Amino acid sequence: MHFLKLKIKLHMNLIFTLLLFISFSLFAEDPTFIWKKYNIDISQISKSKIEKLNLVLSFIEAIPYNKLYVSEKFYKSQSVFEKLYGFTFSGRILNEWVLHRIKKIRIKKLKDFLALNTGTELILSESYFELPLLEQSLVLIHEARHSDGKSFAHITCPKDFPFLSQRNVEALLSELEACDDRTDGAYGFAAAYLFELISYYPTDREILIGKYNSELVRIITKR
Ligand SMILES: [Zn+2]
Repeated sequence: MHFLKLKIKLHMNLIFTLLLFISFSLFAEDPTFIWKKYNIDISQISKSKIEKLNLVLSFIEAIPYNKLYVSEKFYKSQSVFEKLYGFTFSGRILNEWVLHRIKKIRIKKLKDFLALNTGTELILSESYFELPLLEQSLVLIHEARHSDGKSFAHITCPKDFPFLSQRNVEALLSELEACDDRTDGAYGFAAAYLFELISYYPTDREILIGKYNSELVRIITKR
């Protein structure tokens, strides 16, 4: 066991690179492969956009989850990923979870939002593709959760809501349906995902914690 742990540590970077390589080569043959496999209608988006979405899936799949960078006690007491998603964190299974929740993807100009899940289609704005991969993965997970039902729709944020949106700085959140009144909505799922990243990622901790907190403040029952 100890030997295994050591081996995992030594080869972490190699595994990380390998995973990226595997996913890249998988998509390289046919970039639409994974989307077709899940019967997702991508007929209205360009090949270059599909390739960009594949990079998001590769990013999620390559997240290491072998070594904790927080104490096991802390992780066990704070992680809600398994409770919410129904499986232990793994980028590959998380991708499956996301893909199962998308029926169709379309690119369209959106006011105030980067993405929208209408229930029948996932609409992405052009600016979605300009976000860093981590942010794109967050949006994808957020929107996928909306596919689980109308009961996960947002509520309008409180009148005096003082927080800024990380993805859309000038959005006036107090006027938008950009908050949740439940912990298992889209913001709760995104926060649970970020907590896994914080726990399994040795770097970018300040950024990840900022994003984690930013998702949690959108859950009004929390305060
Ligand atoms: Zn939403």
